[in-house]
Amino acid sequence: MSPTKPQEYELQYLKGIGPKRAEILARQGIRTFDDLINFFPRKYVDRRQIVPLDKLEPDQEITVVGKVETAGVKPTRKRIFYIVISDGHGLLEAVWFNSIEYYRKLFHIGEWVSLSGKVGFYRGFQMVHPDYDRLGEGEFEKMLNTGKILPFYPENETFRKTHLNSYFFRWVFANAVSQFEKKIPEVYPPSILRKNAFIPRWKAYRAIHLPETSEELDEAVRRFKYEDFFQLQLMLALQRMHFKEKSPGIAFTRPSPLLEKLYRSLPFELTGAQKKVMHEIRADMKRPEPMNRLLQGDVGSGKTLVAVMSMLIAVDNGYQAALMVPTEILAEQHYLNISKMLEPLGVKVSLLTGGSSAQQRRELAAELDKAEPHIVIGTHALIQDAVGFKKLGLVVIDEQHRFGVMQRAKLVEKGMQADTLVMTATPIPRTLALTVYGSLDVSIIDEMPANRKPIVTVWRFDDKAADIYAFIRERLDRGEQAYIVYPLVEESEKLDLKAATEGFKHLVNGPFKGYKPALLHGRMNAAQKESVMSAFVAGEVQVLVATTVIEVGVDVANATIMLIEHAERFGLSQLHQLRGRVGRGEKKSYCILKTPYNIGEVAQQRMKIMTETNDGFIIAEKDLELRGWGDFFGTKQSGIPRFKLANPIADRDILETARQDAFELVQADPFLRSPENAPLTRYFKKHLKGRMELSKIG
Ligand code: ADP
Ligand code: MG
Repeated sequence: MSPTKPQEYELQYLKGIGPKRAEILARQGIRTFDDLINFFPRKYVDRRQIVPLDKLEPDQEITVVGKVETAGVKPTRKRIFYIVISDGHGLLEAVWFNSIEYYRKLFHIGEWVSLSGKVGFYRGFQMVHPDYDRLGEGEFEKMLNTGKILPFYPENETFRKTHLNSYFFRWVFANAVSQFEKKIPEVYPPSILRKNAFIPRWKAYRAIHLPETSEELDEAVRRFKYEDFFQLQLMLALQRMHFKEKSPGIAFTRPSPLLEKLYRSLPFELTGAQKKVMHEIRADMKRPEPMNRLLQGDVGSGKTLVAVMSMLIAVDNGYQAALMVPTEILAEQHYLNISKMLEPLGVKVSLLTGGSSAQQRRELAAELDKAEPHIVIGTHALIQDAVGFKKLGLVVIDEQHRFGVMQRAKLVEKGMQADTLVMTATPIPRTLALTVYGSLDVSIIDEMPANRKPIVTVWRFDDKAADIYAFIRERLDRGEQAYIVYPLVEESEKLDLKAATEGFKHLVNGPFKGYKPALLHGRMNAAQKESVMSAFVAGEVQVLVATTVIEVGVDVANATIMLIEHAERFGLSQLHQLRGRVGRGEKKSYCILKTPYNIGEVAQQRMKIMTETNDGFIIAEKDLELRGWGDFFGTKQSGIPRFKLANPIADRDILETARQDAFELVQADPFLRSPENAPLTRYFKKHLKGRMELSKIG
């Protein structure tokens, strides 16, 4: 809610703002002095780095400033947008290969811009896809005259329309500088400041907005990156501390005859990595504190078996266990596989999904009410409907729910004090795991079952469709099965459906006439999905044409081909997940990425990476590189605060230090009550209110 009375905008009394601008700022979430100083520049241009256009040399990373002299689209086969700038000394061309229309609207002839990037040479000096800034009226002269490092602030439509540009913000901060020292108190304890040799907080803010030297700016940036990380790590440290302290867990100390039996009946040996993580899980479950563990392992590394064995530990101790998965199809598949595995051992296994009837629910509730050992497999329905587990010992959360912290919070809210094991097939580097899952212990399956043949991945353009279909038919004739996947169009389920349905029609009447294809999509009801899926599992359907509903967990060993249509529309992790649906048996498997000829540069890189590696960890790292930190984890539901400056990949060292400091602080002062920590506690209470709620669950 935005305030209605101008008096409520504290900012209006700052020189250069006034009630009208204060109101606009308030609507953008900048109400107080504190909000204002935390509105950080998105980049800086150091005047000393600006190179005159007659002093260019190839391969240097530089910033230049000039007036747009010409702009247009080159009449080449692949469209290229270009501008030529001049600074009175020389000329430079900048080019963009995609989003042509966007750039065409963005740049205007006669306006001043700054471009940053690497200088190349192609019939003259050129920058490809440079960072750019359109400089406001007269800014160029000011830039040359100030002799300072100039901050550039984030802009949006409203700011542009109301002239709240970088020039405005620079001016406001210059006017407010005298207030910095008295209005920005130190909040971090002296020990942390000393250890990290930080400059005072108010000086850091001054340097961020009014940098005098690049050294000073670097120091400020280092401090704020640290604060970004520290904030999150402190939350995680508190969560972990209080989680372990407050909620007594279950000590699963009895021997595990069922587990032993299952182990002996397996047709294969566990991989070394599976043994290692079982060891870790077992040790965790034995302890009286609740387990809160993340299990990472690439697709096909055998996580399900680890889940089953862990649930047997609970069952062996007389407890109930739940396996929660993201989709109904997956729940059903797991149910079929796991009950087949466990029935001979006499373990009760049930299924609960959104599609379960009232009758089924009642029966299950009655069973669970007996507080007897029991394994229930299901979707979110498991926690949402609060099915009456009477003696829940272990909850395993499989796939997709990357952010297990939140899920576990829900369980705890429901008064379930069970051990939790969160499984994910989107592996992330260990240090990153610390950032995100900092309050969880992490186990990693870093080894594939020995019998796996690597999946051959190829990238083909649409004009090769006939060859691709012929290749698939060859495999079908040998009795193997195939997936054909269509992308999910997120904005519109209808479009998604249309693409898949039309694709299906085309396939049925054309390339796969006489074969047995079937269609699977998100709009089908549970019963329809199940019947298609079980027909595929039984081999009655040869080609499964699907939208990404098959993305996770589906396991059909006889399926050897995965054709992904419009592969350019999928993210790397998603492609890797899809590919993981094949290569599950002894036969050689293929993943074919089909795209139009003309796709963006980043999409091309994704295709290349897919053809180069099968390793989920490498793919996750590349994905992170291509998408950037914010996009990779940046969902609101993740509960991870947005970082102002920090980047967990580039700033790994700072992350480690902040993490260590935060955990030590909580170790020494679990409730943050010491006088030394009082200012910090007050600060966090005020600034992280919504998020600090999280720590209560601990
Ligand atoms: P994930 O869930 O990690 O993607 P799954 O648990 O679905 O992988 O396992 C994939 C396949 O590998 C399953 O068919 C499973 O039975 C099999 N499998 C699991 N562990 C082993 C092992 N140690 N050796 C051989 N095959 C295994
Ligand atoms: Mg799985």
